[in-house]
Amino acid sequence: MPEDSAALAPFRAEVAAWLSANCPHEMRDGATDHDTICWGGRRFAFQSEAQRLWLERMADRGWTAPRWPRAYGGGGLTRAQDKILEEEMARIGARVPLFSFGLMMLGPALLEFGSEAQKREHLPKIVRGEIRWCQGYSEPGAGSDLASLSTSGVLEGETWVVNGQKIWTSYADQSDMIFALVRTDRDAPKHEGISFLLIDMDQPGIETRPIRLISGRSPFCETFLTDARTHKDNVVGAVNAGWAIAKFLLTHERAGVGSFLQTLAAGRSLPEILDHAGTLDDPVIHAEALRCEVDGLAFALTAERYADEAKAGKGIGDASAMLKYMGTEINKRRLELMMSALGTEATDWDGDDGVAADWLRTKANSIEGGTSEIMLSIIARRILELPQ
Ligand SMILES: Cc1cc2nc3c(=O)[nH]c(=O)nc-3n(C[C@H](O)[C@H](O)[C@H](O)COP(=O)(O)OP(=O)(O)OC[C@H]3O[C@@H](n4cnc5c(N)ncnc54)[C@H](O)[C@@H]3O)c2cc1C
Repeated sequence: MPEDSAALAPFRAEVAAWLSANCPHEMRDGATDHDTICWGGRRFAFQSEAQRLWLERMADRGWTAPRWPRAYGGGGLTRAQDKILEEEMARIGARVPLFSFGLMMLGPALLEFGSEAQKREHLPKIVRGEIRWCQGYSEPGAGSDLASLSTSGVLEGETWVVNGQKIWTSYADQSDMIFALVRTDRDAPKHEGISFLLIDMDQPGIETRPIRLISGRSPFCETFLTDARTHKDNVVGAVNAGWAIAKFLLTHERAGVGSFLQTLAAGRSLPEILDHAGTLDDPVIHAEALRCEVDGLAFALTAERYADEAKAGKGIGDASAMLKYMGTEINKRRLELMMSALGTEATDWDGDDGVAADWLRTKANSIEGGTSEIMLSIIARRILELPQ
């Protein structure tokens, strides 16, 4: 057990005792893969009573969003307390009770830019996993150049009427609501005519069409909005000022993706796999494995330092580009190494689980949430202040 300041020791003891009494044994397998994670939402089918109970108990304490204010259903923990919760959960192998774009992306944006009514309406439902959100940013003509988006919103009385198409909307077909970037002033400069709208997916104006991948899976959708409606109170921040919110949310997404990749990689231990493959004695593989492990540790410490430095609830700004880029690179290297160490054994494909599936999934890491080229460009211009 890490050394605590005297003030935190009782908190650790309380957390350990509570987890021991309340975390069902089935939820202590440390599983992090897509199919075992609880995503919540109206349509989510719990795999077991234990999974439902675990979410309910953690949500009752606000520990699905440990650092969000209690007033909005969060745990109200300090960074140090949150770290203790993480450590104690890791110690017993407790699963993360809920993973969602609401927790990772929308929640921080609402805390920063949302009205009091929006916070009270949406944050508790995110904490409890009642509503699943998807992200409506990308369009067929607007990916890296996101501000080129053309989905339009026209105010008719009290209601925004939205028309257009989004693409690569992860899990849109399983989501209850979408946070979308919508052009609400065609005459304004590109970045100044965009609003950030919250839209209920459960209406005839929204159609989702899953995009089938070569693996057979369909994690993405095309999302068509045809006279989709949302009340004017569902604009976050001011009308036409959505670009600042979009960028803030992206910094959370990028930092989250970077750190999450490390969690996934940690779930599949590189030394264990190399040991199993009998390749740890190969000096080349041994050296590369060491490099990966050391880089992974350095990355985790850097991510933690940034998290400590960031004010509670605020983003980490452009540094998120570094975390996203490095998280991607380390994850790719780690999975490449596992593949080459396992050789033909790695091709023994069983559903979506296994090293080969994870290795293929790493290919998307350098695209989702902004491509590696765009991350390098942000690092060069905004952090290193290099000339264009
Ligand atoms: C797994 C996954 C999940 C996703 N989930 C969602 C989601 O839920 N919601 C959503 O809205 N979107 C989602 N996306 C879409 C993602 O955000 C976009 O794919 C990404 O922003 C890149 O845009 P693009 O695909 O249009 O590529 P493009 O922008 O067309 O880029 C093509 C290539 O050109 C390069 N390039 C483009 N511009 C520049 C430049 N200025 N300088 C240097 N190189 C450049 C890019 O780096 C890339 O290599 C997801 C993508 C993936 C892979």
